[in-house]
Amino acid sequence: MASPPRSALLAAPVRTPRPSILRRALELPPKAAEGAAALGLNTVGELLEHVPRARREARTVAALAPGETATVLVEVRTIAARPVRRRGMRPLVEATVADATGPMQATFFNQPWLAKRYEPGTRLVLHGKYEGRGRFRVANHATTDEAAAGTEEVSHYAASEGLSSTQILSLVAANRAALREVVEPLPGRLRASHAFAERGAALEAMHFGASPEEVERGRRRLAFEELLLVQLALLARRAREDSGAAALALGDEPSLTARWLEQELPFTLTADQLAAIATLRSELAGERPTQRLLMGEVGSGKTVVALFAMLRAVEHGFQAALMAPTETLAEQHFATIQRLLGEQSVTLALLTGSTPAARRAEILSRLASGECSLVVGTHALIEDPVRFAALAVAVVDEQHRFGVRQRTALHSKAPDGRAPHVLHMTATPIPRTLALCEYGDLDQTRLHERPLGRRATATHIVSGERERQRAYERIAEEVRAGRQAFVVCPLVEAGELEDGAGAAAQAVAATEEFERLRAGELRDFRLVLLHGQLGHREKQAAMAAFAGGDADVLVATTVIEVGIDVPNATVMLIENAERFGISQLHQLRGRVGRGEHDSLCLLCGPKGSPRLAALERHDDGFELAEIDLRLRKEGELVGTKQSGVGQFALAQMPEDETLLLAARSCAEALIAADPQLRQPEHALLADRLAELYGEIAAHPIAA
Ligand code: ADP
Ligand code: MG
Repeated sequence: MASPPRSALLAAPVRTPRPSILRRALELPPKAAEGAAALGLNTVGELLEHVPRARREARTVAALAPGETATVLVEVRTIAARPVRRRGMRPLVEATVADATGPMQATFFNQPWLAKRYEPGTRLVLHGKYEGRGRFRVANHATTDEAAAGTEEVSHYAASEGLSSTQILSLVAANRAALREVVEPLPGRLRASHAFAERGAALEAMHFGASPEEVERGRRRLAFEELLLVQLALLARRAREDSGAAALALGDEPSLTARWLEQELPFTLTADQLAAIATLRSELAGERPTQRLLMGEVGSGKTVVALFAMLRAVEHGFQAALMAPTETLAEQHFATIQRLLGEQSVTLALLTGSTPAARRAEILSRLASGECSLVVGTHALIEDPVRFAALAVAVVDEQHRFGVRQRTALHSKAPDGRAPHVLHMTATPIPRTLALCEYGDLDQTRLHERPLGRRATATHIVSGERERQRAYERIAEEVRAGRQAFVVCPLVEAGELEDGAGAAAQAVAATEEFERLRAGELRDFRLVLLHGQLGHREKQAAMAAFAGGDADVLVATTVIEVGIDVPNATVMLIENAERFGISQLHQLRGRVGRGEHDSLCLLCGPKGSPRLAALERHDDGFELAEIDLRLRKEGELVGTKQSGVGQFALAQMPEDETLLLAARSCAEALIAADPQLRQPEHALLADRLAELYGEIAAHPIAA
């Protein structure tokens, strides 16, 4: 066949998709345009991506109950503006509208022009209040093509002042044809294997799906893509790191670590600890830089595991560093490690912001020469002047508090061309689904088990004055028996505060409670106060007094959440416990139950609180984290975009866990086969990834 002439080719219908159509600006009157801009809707494409946050049943006219706020799909029969008789009276338009079940009177305020715009026969979506006796007061309205009969649900959209959900619906309907131009990023093979619709069709199903099932199929298809892209970003970053600098392989037979494990530990390792150590031993032996997240609640024995990794570096003649987010934590780690090292002679140093200049200079020189093999510290460790002779292992505690820049700085401390093995530790038990989303570029290990001898802490909700008095009596009993107690002061509610006033207000609240208890219920005992506004010395003095047994009761803000280890403390009372999150309460509670005695946690708050009830019932932090996730979801306002809990527009955790796991394994397969997504069939996926997270090579997700 002869090829057609050029003129015929140019005249031929253009093949879709033509994504340029999606980049066209929405044409709207000024007020609506403002409202649309506030929602981030400036182009046709952005409008079509603005999926409904809920579907609500459209009611039939006959079924409306007086006082009910509802949406109806109707047709205009007659419409007229009512003359304004008095000054100050609002102009009114009255229409007789009807659906298959019957007519009613709809009133529109302040929009006299509607009488001309909505001619008889126009189909409308009306949202408003049914006032009874056949009268409907309209709040939002828009035209619709949807046939009233047979459509049971109407999409509801996140709206803004200038642009109502009903208007958005009619705008989407008007631009429906542009859905054909939506680009499909998923490779055909992948879509086929999951029986996923094309992207445009999935969006269409979300906007206009005829049944809840159809809408849900559309949502799942889009949610899968959302999850896949996150996983791809994470795994691509990891793949890039893996293919960069190699780590120092720590593969020799253990010497120091063997001695240490046999001779120094005054306890038997838990099965979880042993498994974590075995994993690290084989991982550290390779040149692929370890990037592992070690999760375990406070007291689960992470430090022992971390120290093992650090000592593996030391016994190979290299160095290791542990970086903590605060000086207090660094000091505690330093003390723990000193104790855990026992008789093993390992040169260990502590470097923080308050290390005196002379001492600091000495440490720096010993790190540079390799004379000092283990260092514990804060950010001070990654400052520019700090040089290591041969940093092989870095442990980063509570890594979520570090930014990407700081992590990169740590990398630059390894010998030229090398990357350190990095172990990240967190005491926050992160639900599985979230861990995969937020830390999916890290391998993960969980320490579930509590070390032997660690007792569960009996937990009770304290409600009302009588129970509160009884709670103070319990504290007194414990103190008289030689034990110690914590009183944790309430969080000051965010709404009560100016930005940044939180710490100060907290300090005031704690100080007041301290004074009150010292003169009142706990006047017979020695109280100390600890809050974030105290100077370093004062904090240290307060903690030393409590740790040394010179104080019976520590009245504190949440600064005690991490770090304090006083096995003799057996009771904790938490004020306004319902103001804290589950995991924070659980972490606070972890400050007691660390010794040989039974301990007690008293949560002041309402008996009906599901979060406090969860604390009463459960002791495993990972279990509580899963409960927390479910409760937080339920507590969310209907229709708000998911916030915090995974930053997803469409995926929902934990419900979409299966979808997430599918997306994860799909991403793993894709990255394994094509780490840079360079193959032609992955081009559109790579484009989308770059659009969302920047070049694959960049850090897509902040730590
Ligand atoms: P984490 O860092 O997870 O909070 P640590 O490693 O600091 O926990 O351990 C908390 C305390 O428990 C330390 O005093 C430590 O010596 C002790 N410990 C750790 N592992 C065990 C174990 N298997 N059995 C008994 N005690 C342990
Ligand atoms: Mg620890």
